[in-house]
Amino acid sequence: MVTSRPRIGVLAVQGDVREHAAALHRLGATVELVRRPTELATVDGLVLPGGESSTIDKLTRAFGLQQPIRDAIASGMPVYGTCAGMILLADRISDGIAGQQTFGGLDVTVRRNAFGSQVDSFETDLAVPALGAPPVHAVFIRAPLVEQAGDDVEVLARLDDGRIVAVRQGSLLATAFHPEVGAELRFHALLVAQAAAWREATVPG
Ligand code: GLN
Repeated sequence: MVTSRPRIGVLAVQGDVREHAAALHRLGATVELVRRPTELATVDGLVLPGGESSTIDKLTRAFGLQQPIRDAIASGMPVYGTCAGMILLADRISDGIAGQQTFGGLDVTVRRNAFGSQVDSFETDLAVPALGAPPVHAVFIRAPLVEQAGDDVEVLARLDDGRIVAVRQGSLLATAFHPEVGAELRFHALLVAQAAAWREATVPG
C-alpha cells in the first residue's frame, strides 16, 4: 500500500504495456497510458516497458515524446525500464540498429540481444540484495546486458557469471528481465515509492 497514490505513466506506444499497468494497479497506483506529451505531463513516475527498443524509439520520436521524456528524466522524475526499457535508458548502446537513439540518463553501455539466438529466452532465480529475500524469479526475453557501468551506477543484480542485469542510478531503475510477466512486484514498488516521494518534493503545498 502506498500512503499517497502517485500517478504512474506507462509508455504505451509498443510493448508489454498491459502487464506493467496490471502490476502498478496491484500496488495501488493510479495508471496513465502515455502516448502524448500532455499525458506525460500528468505523471509522477514512468515505466518504459519491454518490447522492441528501436520501434519504441521511432514511435516516441514520431509522437513528439522523445524530448519531453528526456526532460522528465533530467528533472529527476523516477523512471523504471524493463528490457527494451533498459536499452532506452542507457546513455550508450551496442548493437543498436542504424540511427537508433535512446532517452539516456543511465551511465551505462547496454548490449541489445546480448544472449544471441541460442538462449535468447530463459528464466532464472536472481539474488537482489536491495530487495532482500526471496530471490527474484527473472524472465529474460531476447534480453540486453549491461556491459559497462559508470561509477555512480549501483549494480542491483548479476547473473552467476557476474554479468550485470539490474541497475539503479538516482531516480532511474532498469532491469534486463521482466518482473511484470510474473508475480514479482518489488521493482514496481520501488518506482511507486520513489514517485510518491518525488511528488511530495515537487508539488507545492
Ligand atoms: N531485444 C529487444 C530490443 O532490442 C528487447 C526485448 C524485450 O524487451 N523483451 O529492444
